[in-house]
Amino acid sequence: MTSPVVDSIASSGFSRRTFFRFAAGASALATMPILTEAHLALAQRPHFADPNKGIHIDANENPLGPCEAARQAIADIIPRGGRYLMDMEEDLTGTFAKMEGLDPDSVMAFSGSSEPLHYTVLTFTDKNKPLVIADPGYEAPMWAAQVSGAPVIKVPLADPKGAAAHDIKAMLAASSTPGVLYICNPNNPTGTCTARADIEYAVANAPKDTILLIDEAYIHLCDEPRSLDFVKQGKNVIVLRTFSKLYGMAGIRMGFAIGRPDLLKKISVHGGFNALPITAVAAAKTSLLQPDLVASRKKIIGDVRVDTIAWLKSEGHATTPSESNCFMLETGRPGKQVLAAMAAKEIYIGRIWPAWPTQVRITVGTHDEMLAFRKAFKEVMATNTSGLVPPQLPGRLAEHPFSHLS
Ligand code: PLP
Repeated sequence: MTSPVVDSIASSGFSRRTFFRFAAGASALATMPILTEAHLALAQRPHFADPNKGIHIDANENPLGPCEAARQAIADIIPRGGRYLMDMEEDLTGTFAKMEGLDPDSVMAFSGSSEPLHYTVLTFTDKNKPLVIADPGYEAPMWAAQVSGAPVIKVPLADPKGAAAHDIKAMLAASSTPGVLYICNPNNPTGTCTARADIEYAVANAPKDTILLIDEAYIHLCDEPRSLDFVKQGKNVIVLRTFSKLYGMAGIRMGFAIGRPDLLKKISVHGGFNALPITAVAAAKTSLLQPDLVASRKKIIGDVRVDTIAWLKSEGHATTPSESNCFMLETGRPGKQVLAAMAAKEIYIGRIWPAWPTQVRITVGTHDEMLAFRKAFKEVMATNTSGLVPPQLPGRLAEHPFSHLS
């Protein structure tokens, strides 16, 4: 036993799994902020935007927020907020494991999926074991690789004007010793999916020490097969899930890493088993148990996305074929100018990826928000934006460690 505290927790009825998480989580090593979509969106926002004013479609949030039952679950648990109630966390991961037919020891809860994403990169990459990611793709793993000192290899998406899927064969060919191969399905920012056959190919052909990090933050919004079966088969796969997107809990914070227990134990050296807020745990469990929630929200968001993309097409603007709550929109001019012009109208659209400088990412908001977006976008595209350069982040925001990301 490592300490009297660990001893007494281990003998107090907590499971071995819980005990190991605690023991492993005792040494925190991370030295870089764990970057989330919120940081990355803020880094490219042209000016400080009052979250209560204007329309915010720049951080892939869900404007619907938590479902009614989850809100009630939060309210109901508040009187017990003086307690740690750590058994609730095991109940949550156990509930998910049961629903998905997983070993409960292969599910670990965190305050959002950004944490296990960061920890997986820290654990399995180093200067000789690169991180391989798609481009344009979600950048958070790239910043974690700065901590581990791993080279980052960006592989362009295949068929960028068409399916814009991950180019799995090129990703596999990019390094003979990849530490982590990151697959975001559907992809942020394009909203496009990578075919199951390609993901199977990656699982079958990755070098034996490579971890496939399959980020399913947006998986509920599409019909593609899920990747949890690779975990059941004991593969070198860690799947990430979050409650921030479909479940509308980005500000409440809850996410899972799903992987073989030995892999989870390794990542939890950096963090995990952190006495998560009981409000978040209660809301997540309640959300999981709502029978129609996934289907109904998928439809609401999908309908608005389809309408918006159809309108853009009718106006002559191309987008990626998204199956998610975001898509890339071709503007035919420097995207930064469009972003600044839209922000001047208090419509905050998403950021730009250096590989596709004339495209901007649009998050699917509510029907009314997207009507306001259409009106403003039409006006902006009818004007000359060439003089527009986004101003610097003001004051202290400019000093944030992530301000250099823009
Ligand atoms: N993964 C992807 C692809 C994302 O887009 C995001 C957030 O936008 C996350 C992970 C992390 O989300 P959270 O930490 O809120 O669970």
